[in-house]
Amino acid sequence: MVKNLKLGDLSITGLKDISRFSIPVKKLFPDFDHSILRKNDPLPESVMSKGLIHLTIRSWLLRQSGKNILIDSCVGADKERPNHPAWHKRDGMEWLNALKQQGLKPEDIDIVLCTHLHADHVGWNTKLENGVWVPTFPNAKYVCGKIEYNYWNNTYKETDKHGAFEDSILPIVKKNQMEFVEDGWDLIKGLKVQFRPGHTIGHLCLESDRGALFCGDVLHSPLQLRHPELSSAFCSDPDLARSTREKLLMEISESGGYLIPAHFADPGWTKIKKFTTGYSEIT
Ligand SMILES: [Zn+2]
Repeated sequence: MVKNLKLGDLSITGLKDISRFSIPVKKLFPDFDHSILRKNDPLPESVMSKGLIHLTIRSWLLRQSGKNILIDSCVGADKERPNHPAWHKRDGMEWLNALKQQGLKPEDIDIVLCTHLHADHVGWNTKLENGVWVPTFPNAKYVCGKIEYNYWNNTYKETDKHGAFEDSILPIVKKNQMEFVEDGWDLIKGLKVQFRPGHTIGHLCLESDRGALFCGDVLHSPLQLRHPELSSAFCSDPDLARSTREKLLMEISESGGYLIPAHFADPGWTKIKKFTTGYSEIT
């Protein structure tokens, strides 16, 4: 049963594309050292076991003011990802079924926000139709950061090792369905875009005035609550990613709102409080 978080008139539901995706901890967090783990307070097995960090790949479905909004669109189906066999030419049915279970069809999605343009955040943006990539959500306005788009647009031939920019972003731009936004832009009333760079050069978060912060890949794992200093191997600017993460965690712990990253295990949202040098989850 999929859990739903209700904050006033905002409804939040996770749509999973890949329930569990495991990476050696040192591969994800190059600066990780086992000696930093708290002896008397082990991380749950859902977070880390046998030297592997476990992540979930999910979109967030937000329903508010009659709008159906997606934050990020996971890995997707049929994508050519030879550099990542688990993502290569998937059927993607888990994600489509998750959307269907919410009583929705792709045609019903009004807005798709791309926090950043990594391959596991934009895959369902497009689908393969007669050999051509077309928008999966024909009636949606897609939104991404202006800085993020400009960076990938200028460099993707050299920097995009999965080809996601070409098959999941450019077809949206070609159909004039992509809007480029900056810090402070209102997605709808009560949902504001925040510029939080570091993981990528133009990474965006989305803040709800109902008390939630959708923070994309500003952090990947609860391990980074305990150790906010750990940036991932996929962060384009690890030092900036670190200072962005530390600032964000401090803000959310002080506001008492929900922290909602892209890759935490179920339910995927948490509240945090300051604890020694890092943060702990409020259960
Ligand atoms: Zn990412």
